[in-house]
Amino acid sequence: MSSQITPEEEEARGKVPVPDHVQDAVRTLLEWSGDDPDREGLLDTPKRVARAWKEYCEGYAEDPAVHLSRVFEEVGGYEELVLLKDIPFHSHCEHHMAPIIGKAAIAYLPTNRVVGISKLARVLHGYARRLQVQERLTAEVADCIWENLEPRGVAVVIEASHSCMTARGVRTPGVGMVTSRMMGTFLEDQRSRKEVLSLMGY
Ligand SMILES: [Zn+2]
Repeated sequence: MSSQITPEEEEARGKVPVPDHVQDAVRTLLEWSGDDPDREGLLDTPKRVARAWKEYCEGYAEDPAVHLSRVFEEVGGYEELVLLKDIPFHSHCEHHMAPIIGKAAIAYLPTNRVVGISKLARVLHGYARRLQVQERLTAEVADCIWENLEPRGVAVVIEASHSCMTARGVRTPGVGMVTSRMMGTFLEDQRSRKEVLSLMGY
């Protein structure tokens, strides 16, 4: 097999142990792709792939709502828009396990609960670091903010390119997909919706 390092030594170095059956699955995929899993350059690939996937999908191990549990209720009566835009993210599509690379804009109209601005990005990453479809990712981020901050409105717009479209199948590089979810004021009031979309750059 690949290296002389034992699983115990690897664990001691802080690396996640990778069970044999997981490595075997990656070897099978390498073979299926047309390569030889026993050639030198690929010997450690099964372990690397397995660990990379643990990282790509680390969102499964968390509840993104925890990032919204610490709120500031003393915001001096601030009730105007809070907007975080151009938040880059990585995800993987559940149909091909291929990369989805994009950016998100997240806005809400607080009532009396405001969170630190980085928390909105953490909610996004918590859902993005799972196997996803873009529509569900958009909805999950919006719902999470809606339920936990109880704001007057939430707007989430996600723009992403899907490798399963750009690198295979129809092969259309540069194509971006845009999804949005509007709730509360942004859903009901066209003027608010236009305003938030224009601030987001749409
Ligand atoms: Zn796909």
